[in-house]
Amino acid sequence: MDKISVIVPCYNEESAIPLFYREITKVSEKMSAAEFEFIFVNDGSKDKTNQVIRGLAEKDKRVKYISFSRNFGKEGAMYAGMGNASGDYVVIMDVDLQDPPSLISEMYDILKTGEYDCAATRRVNRKGEAKIRSLFARAFYKLINHISQTEIMDGARDFRMMTRQMTDSILGLCEYNRFSKGIFSWVGFDTKWIGYENVNRSAGETKWSFWKLFKYSLDGIVGFSTAPLAMASLMGIILFFVSIVGIIFIIVRQLLYGGSAYGWPSMICVILLVGGLQLLSIGILGQYLSKTYLETKKRPLYIIKETNINRTSGKN
Ligand code: UDP
Ligand code: MG
Repeated sequence: MDKISVIVPCYNEESAIPLFYREITKVSEKMSAAEFEFIFVNDGSKDKTNQVIRGLAEKDKRVKYISFSRNFGKEGAMYAGMGNASGDYVVIMDVDLQDPPSLISEMYDILKTGEYDCAATRRVNRKGEAKIRSLFARAFYKLINHISQTEIMDGARDFRMMTRQMTDSILGLCEYNRFSKGIFSWVGFDTKWIGYENVNRSAGETKWSFWKLFKYSLDGIVGFSTAPLAMASLMGIILFFVSIVGIIFIIVRQLLYGGSAYGWPSMICVILLVGGLQLLSIGILGQYLSKTYLETKKRPLYIIKETNINRTSGKN
Protein backbone atom coordinates (compact mmCIF):
# COMPACT_ATOMS: atom_id res chain seq x y z
CA MET A 1 0.00 0.00 0.00
CA ASP A 2 1.30 3.46 -0.92
CA LYS A 3 1.77 6.01 1.80
CA ILE A 4 0.98 9.65 1.11
CA SER A 5 2.45 12.31 3.39
CA VAL A 6 0.52 15.56 3.44
CA ILE A 7 2.61 18.48 4.65
CA VAL A 8 0.71 21.47 5.98
CA PRO A 9 2.59 24.60 7.05
CA CYS A 10 0.56 26.53 9.63
CA TYR A 11 1.16 29.99 10.97
CA ASN A 12 -1.56 31.40 13.22
CA GLU A 13 -4.19 29.12 11.75
CA GLU A 14 -6.22 27.97 14.77
CA SER A 15 -9.48 28.73 12.97
CA ALA A 16 -8.55 27.10 9.67
CA ILE A 17 -7.10 23.80 10.94
CA PRO A 18 -10.35 22.11 12.05
CA LEU A 19 -11.99 22.91 8.69
CA PHE A 20 -8.94 21.61 6.86
CA TYR A 21 -8.82 18.42 8.92
CA ARG A 22 -12.47 17.71 8.17
CA GLU A 23 -11.91 18.05 4.44
CA ILE A 24 -8.68 16.09 4.31
CA THR A 25 -10.13 13.15 6.26
CA LYS A 26 -12.98 13.03 3.74
CA VAL A 27 -10.40 12.77 0.97
CA SER A 28 -8.44 10.07 2.79
CA GLU A 29 -11.63 8.03 3.30
CA LYS A 30 -12.36 8.16 -0.40
CA MET A 31 -8.81 7.14 -1.30
CA SER A 32 -8.82 3.89 0.59
CA ALA A 33 -6.11 2.45 -1.65
CA ALA A 34 -3.52 4.61 0.02
CA GLU A 35 -2.39 5.18 3.56
CA PHE A 36 -2.12 8.76 4.84
CA GLU A 37 0.08 10.76 7.15
CA PHE A 38 -0.65 14.42 7.93
CA ILE A 39 2.31 16.50 9.00
CA PHE A 40 1.29 19.83 10.49
CA VAL A 41 4.21 22.19 10.80
CA ASN A 42 3.51 24.90 13.34
CA ASP A 43 5.70 27.74 12.19
CA GLY A 44 5.97 29.57 15.51
CA SER A 45 2.31 30.56 15.71
CA LYS A 46 1.26 33.03 18.37
CA ASP A 47 -2.30 31.72 18.67
CA LYS A 48 -3.59 28.29 19.73
CA THR A 49 -2.40 26.49 16.58
CA ASN A 50 -0.14 24.21 18.60
CA GLN A 51 -2.88 23.13 20.99
CA VAL A 52 -5.24 22.50 18.09
CA ILE A 53 -2.82 20.22 16.24
CA ARG A 54 -1.77 18.47 19.42
CA GLY A 55 -5.45 17.77 20.05
CA LEU A 56 -5.79 16.27 16.58
CA ALA A 57 -2.69 14.13 17.10
CA GLU A 58 -4.18 12.65 20.28
CA LYS A 59 -7.33 11.58 18.44
CA ASP A 60 -5.77 10.51 15.15
CA LYS A 61 -2.56 8.52 14.93
CA ARG A 62 -2.00 9.68 11.36
CA VAL A 63 -1.50 13.26 12.55
CA LYS A 64 2.11 14.25 13.09
CA TYR A 65 3.22 17.66 14.17
CA ILE A 66 6.40 19.66 14.22
CA SER A 67 6.50 22.86 16.22
CA PHE A 68 9.19 25.44 15.57
CA SER A 69 10.83 27.52 18.25
CA ARG A 70 9.80 30.69 16.37
CA ASN A 71 8.45 31.78 12.99
CA PHE A 72 10.91 30.61 10.34
CA GLY A 73 8.71 31.21 7.30
CA LYS A 74 6.79 28.90 5.00
CA GLU A 75 9.93 27.80 3.17
CA GLY A 76 11.45 26.43 6.36
CA ALA A 77 8.15 24.79 7.28
CA MET A 78 7.92 23.01 3.93
CA TYR A 79 11.52 21.85 4.20
CA ALA A 80 10.97 20.50 7.70
CA GLY A 81 7.85 18.69 6.54
CA MET A 82 9.60 17.08 3.60
CA GLY A 83 12.56 16.10 5.75
CA ASN A 84 10.29 14.30 8.20
CA ALA A 85 7.84 12.76 5.75
CA SER A 86 7.96 9.00 5.42
CA GLY A 87 5.53 8.61 2.52
CA ASP A 88 6.14 7.27 -0.97
CA TYR A 89 4.37 10.37 -2.21
CA VAL A 90 4.59 13.78 -0.65
CA VAL A 91 1.92 16.47 -0.89
CA ILE A 92 2.46 20.07 0.15
CA MET A 93 -0.62 22.17 0.75
CA ASP A 94 -1.89 25.24 2.56
CA VAL A 95 -4.19 24.87 5.51
CA ASP A 96 -6.64 27.55 4.39
CA LEU A 97 -8.39 25.33 1.80
CA GLN A 98 -7.21 27.58 -1.01
CA ASP A 99 -5.67 24.37 -2.30
CA PRO A 100 -8.68 22.12 -3.01
CA PRO A 101 -8.05 18.80 -1.17
CA SER A 102 -10.17 16.99 -3.74
CA LEU A 103 -7.35 17.40 -6.26
CA ILE A 104 -5.19 14.99 -4.25
CA SER A 105 -6.80 11.90 -5.73
CA GLU A 106 -6.42 13.34 -9.23
CA MET A 107 -2.72 13.97 -8.51
CA TYR A 108 -2.29 10.46 -7.16
CA ASP A 109 -3.81 8.97 -10.32
CA ILE A 110 -1.46 11.05 -12.46
CA LEU A 111 1.64 9.92 -10.56
CA LYS A 112 0.48 6.31 -10.47
CA THR A 113 0.67 6.14 -14.25
CA GLY A 114 4.43 6.48 -13.80
CA GLU A 115 4.63 9.08 -16.54
CA TYR A 116 5.13 12.00 -14.18
CA ASP A 117 7.17 12.64 -11.05
CA CYS A 118 5.15 15.58 -9.90
CA ALA A 119 1.59 16.82 -10.23
CA ALA A 120 1.50 20.52 -9.50
CA THR A 121 -1.23 23.12 -9.49
CA ARG A 122 -1.45 26.58 -10.91
CA ARG A 123 -4.13 29.17 -10.62
CA VAL A 124 -5.58 30.07 -13.97
CA ASN A 125 -6.90 33.36 -12.64
CA ARG A 126 -6.40 35.63 -9.67
CA LYS A 127 -10.03 36.30 -8.88
CA GLY A 128 -10.60 37.82 -5.47
CA GLU A 129 -7.06 39.13 -5.19
CA ALA A 130 -6.24 42.83 -4.93
CA LYS A 131 -5.62 44.35 -8.39
CA ILE A 132 -2.32 45.91 -7.44
CA ARG A 133 -1.05 42.59 -6.07
CA SER A 134 -1.94 40.76 -9.31
CA LEU A 135 -0.25 43.49 -11.32
CA PHE A 136 3.01 43.17 -9.42
CA ALA A 137 2.84 39.37 -9.48
CA ARG A 138 2.49 39.38 -13.29
CA ALA A 139 5.39 41.81 -13.66
CA PHE A 140 7.52 39.67 -11.38
CA TYR A 141 6.92 36.47 -13.37
CA LYS A 142 7.66 38.27 -16.64
CA LEU A 143 10.90 39.67 -15.26
CA ILE A 144 12.20 36.54 -13.61
CA ASN A 145 11.47 34.33 -16.60
CA HIS A 146 13.31 36.82 -18.75
CA ILE A 147 16.47 36.86 -16.66
CA SER A 148 16.58 33.37 -15.18
CA GLN A 149 17.40 30.07 -16.83
CA THR A 150 15.05 28.27 -14.47
CA GLU A 151 11.48 28.48 -15.68
CA ILE A 152 9.11 29.82 -13.06
CA MET A 153 5.49 29.17 -13.91
CA ASP A 154 3.10 32.10 -13.54
CA GLY A 155 0.45 31.34 -10.96
CA ALA A 156 2.16 28.14 -9.79
CA ARG A 157 1.19 27.17 -6.26
CA ASP A 158 3.24 25.23 -3.78
CA PHE A 159 0.33 22.74 -3.77
CA ARG A 160 1.71 19.61 -5.43
CA MET A 161 2.31 15.91 -5.09
CA MET A 162 5.80 14.55 -5.66
CA THR A 163 7.43 11.18 -5.72
CA ARG A 164 9.88 10.16 -3.02
CA GLN A 165 12.72 10.53 -5.52
CA MET A 166 11.86 14.13 -6.36
CA THR A 167 11.34 15.00 -2.68
CA ASP A 168 14.79 13.66 -1.84
CA SER A 169 16.33 15.74 -4.61
CA ILE A 170 14.68 18.84 -3.20
CA LEU A 171 15.96 18.00 0.27
CA GLY A 172 19.42 17.83 -1.26
CA LEU A 173 19.21 21.55 -1.98
CA CYS A 174 19.75 22.84 1.51
CA GLU A 175 20.34 26.50 0.70
CA TYR A 176 19.37 29.01 3.33
CA ASN A 177 17.67 31.52 1.03
CA ARG A 178 14.97 29.29 -0.31
CA PHE A 179 12.66 30.11 -3.16
CA SER A 180 10.63 26.98 -3.66
CA LYS A 181 8.98 27.96 -6.91
CA GLY A 182 12.46 28.02 -8.40
CA ILE A 183 13.75 24.96 -6.56
CA PHE A 184 10.84 22.77 -7.71
CA SER A 185 11.63 23.68 -11.27
CA TRP A 186 15.42 23.57 -10.90
CA VAL A 187 15.50 19.91 -9.82
CA GLY A 188 13.82 18.97 -13.09
CA PHE A 189 11.68 15.79 -13.38
CA ASP A 190 8.40 15.65 -15.27
CA THR A 191 5.65 17.84 -13.95
CA LYS A 192 2.01 17.69 -14.93
CA TRP A 193 0.25 21.01 -14.39
CA ILE A 194 -3.32 21.11 -13.16
CA GLY A 195 -5.07 24.45 -13.55
CA TYR A 196 -7.82 25.59 -11.23
CA GLU A 197 -9.76 28.72 -10.39
CA ASN A 198 -8.61 30.78 -7.44
CA VAL A 199 -10.47 29.97 -4.21
CA ASN A 200 -10.73 32.38 -1.30
CA ARG A 201 -9.41 31.55 2.15
CA SER A 202 -11.71 29.44 4.35
CA ALA A 203 -10.81 31.22 7.60
CA GLY A 204 -8.14 33.46 9.06
CA GLU A 205 -6.24 35.90 6.92
CA THR A 206 -3.29 35.92 4.54
CA LYS A 207 0.15 36.00 6.13
CA TRP A 208 1.70 37.74 3.17
CA SER A 209 1.85 41.49 3.33
CA PHE A 210 2.82 43.35 0.20
CA TRP A 211 6.24 44.07 1.66
CA LYS A 212 6.83 40.40 2.56
CA LEU A 213 5.93 39.38 -0.98
CA PHE A 214 8.21 42.04 -2.41
CA LYS A 215 11.14 40.75 -0.35
CA TYR A 216 10.28 37.18 -1.36
CA SER A 217 10.36 38.16 -5.02
CA LEU A 218 13.81 39.71 -4.53
CA ASP A 219 14.91 36.40 -2.97
CA GLY A 220 13.67 34.70 -6.12
CA ILE A 221 15.56 37.01 -8.42
CA VAL A 222 18.81 36.92 -6.46
CA GLY A 223 18.51 33.17 -5.95
CA PHE A 224 17.87 32.22 -9.54
CA SER A 225 19.55 34.82 -11.68
CA THR A 226 22.79 36.72 -11.84
CA ALA A 227 21.42 39.08 -14.48
CA PRO A 228 21.29 42.12 -12.16
CA LEU A 229 25.04 41.78 -11.65
CA ALA A 230 25.60 41.66 -15.38
CA MET A 231 23.35 44.68 -15.73
CA ALA A 232 25.60 46.66 -13.40
CA SER A 233 28.61 45.84 -15.57
CA LEU A 234 26.69 46.71 -18.71
CA MET A 235 25.76 50.10 -17.31
CA GLY A 236 29.40 50.68 -16.47
CA ILE A 237 30.50 49.83 -20.01
CA ILE A 238 27.86 52.07 -21.60
CA LEU A 239 28.80 55.00 -19.38
CA PHE A 240 32.46 54.43 -20.18
CA PHE A 241 31.82 54.79 -23.90
CA VAL A 242 29.58 57.80 -23.40
CA SER A 243 32.33 59.51 -21.43
CA ILE A 244 34.93 58.72 -24.13
CA VAL A 245 32.70 60.41 -26.70
CA GLY A 246 32.27 63.35 -24.32
CA ILE A 247 36.02 63.70 -23.80
CA ILE A 248 36.73 63.64 -27.55
CA PHE A 249 34.01 66.24 -28.05
CA ILE A 250 35.55 68.56 -25.43
CA ILE A 251 39.09 68.18 -26.82
CA VAL A 252 37.95 68.89 -30.38
CA ARG A 253 35.93 71.90 -29.24
CA GLN A 254 38.88 73.18 -27.24
CA LEU A 255 41.13 72.97 -30.29
CA LEU A 256 38.64 74.56 -32.70
CA TYR A 257 36.87 77.19 -30.61
CA GLY A 258 38.81 77.58 -27.39
CA GLY A 259 37.76 76.69 -23.84
CA SER A 260 34.40 77.20 -22.21
CA ALA A 261 33.74 78.23 -18.64
CA TYR A 262 30.03 77.52 -18.46
CA GLY A 263 28.33 74.17 -18.14
CA TRP A 264 28.01 73.74 -14.36
CA PRO A 265 24.41 72.51 -14.36
CA SER A 266 25.15 69.86 -16.94
CA MET A 267 28.21 68.80 -14.99
CA ILE A 268 26.21 68.39 -11.80
CA CYS A 269 23.68 66.29 -13.73
CA VAL A 270 26.40 64.01 -14.99
CA ILE A 271 27.94 63.67 -11.53
CA LEU A 272 24.55 62.79 -10.08
CA LEU A 273 23.86 60.31 -12.84
CA VAL A 274 27.16 58.52 -12.47
CA GLY A 275 27.00 58.63 -8.67
CA GLY A 276 23.48 57.18 -8.75
CA LEU A 277 24.44 54.38 -11.08
CA GLN A 278 27.44 53.56 -8.93
CA LEU A 279 25.31 53.36 -5.82
CA LEU A 280 22.79 51.20 -7.66
CA SER A 281 25.52 48.82 -8.76
CA ILE A 282 26.96 48.64 -5.28
CA GLY A 283 23.47 47.97 -3.99
CA ILE A 284 23.01 45.08 -6.40
CA LEU A 285 26.39 43.71 -5.42
CA GLY A 286 25.37 44.09 -1.80
CA GLN A 287 22.23 42.03 -2.36
CA TYR A 288 24.26 39.12 -3.64
CA LEU A 289 26.90 39.58 -0.99
CA SER A 290 24.35 39.58 1.82
CA LYS A 291 22.80 36.37 0.53
CA THR A 292 26.25 34.81 0.27
CA TYR A 293 27.01 35.98 3.81
CA LEU A 294 23.89 34.32 5.21
CA GLU A 295 24.59 31.21 3.17
CA THR A 296 28.13 30.82 4.55
CA LYS A 297 26.89 30.85 8.12
CA LYS A 298 25.19 27.51 7.47
CA ARG A 299 22.49 28.21 9.99
CA PRO A 300 19.73 25.61 10.22
CA LEU A 301 16.57 26.36 8.25
CA TYR A 302 14.44 25.77 11.32
CA ILE A 303 14.66 24.72 14.95
CA ILE A 304 12.21 22.20 16.35
CA LYS A 305 10.81 22.83 19.79
CA GLU A 306 8.34 19.99 19.94
CA THR A 307 7.28 17.07 17.75
CA ASN A 308 5.63 13.67 17.93
CA ILE A 309 7.75 12.27 15.12
CA ASN A 310 10.49 9.85 16.06
CA ARG A 311 13.32 11.27 14.10
CA THR A 312 15.99 8.73 13.40
CA SER A 313 18.05 10.86 11.04
CA GLY A 314 18.58 13.61 13.59
CA LYS A 315 18.69 16.06 10.73
CA ASN A 316 17.50 19.51 11.58
N1 UDP B 1 2.64 30.10 6.45
C1 UDP B 1 3.68 29.62 7.24
N2 UDP B 1 4.62 30.52 7.72
C2 UDP B 1 4.58 31.85 7.42
C3 UDP B 1 3.54 32.31 6.58
C4 UDP B 1 2.59 31.40 6.12
O1 UDP B 1 3.76 28.43 7.53
O2 UDP B 1 5.44 32.58 7.88
C5 UDP B 1 1.62 29.14 5.94
C6 UDP B 1 0.18 29.54 6.24
O3 UDP B 1 -0.24 29.08 7.49
C7 UDP B 1 -0.58 28.87 5.11
C8 UDP B 1 0.42 28.91 3.96
O4 UDP B 1 1.70 29.12 4.54
O5 UDP B 1 -0.89 27.51 5.38
C9 UDP B 1 0.10 30.00 2.95
O6 UDP B 1 -0.07 31.21 3.60
P1 UDP B 1 -1.22 32.23 3.20
O7 UDP B 1 -2.50 31.50 2.99
O8 UDP B 1 -1.21 33.32 4.21
O9 UDP B 1 -0.66 32.77 1.82
P2 UDP B 1 -1.52 33.14 0.51
O10 UDP B 1 -2.38 31.95 0.22
O11 UDP B 1 -2.31 34.35 0.87
O12 UDP B 1 -0.48 33.37 -0.53
MG1 MG C 1 -3.65 31.08 1.42
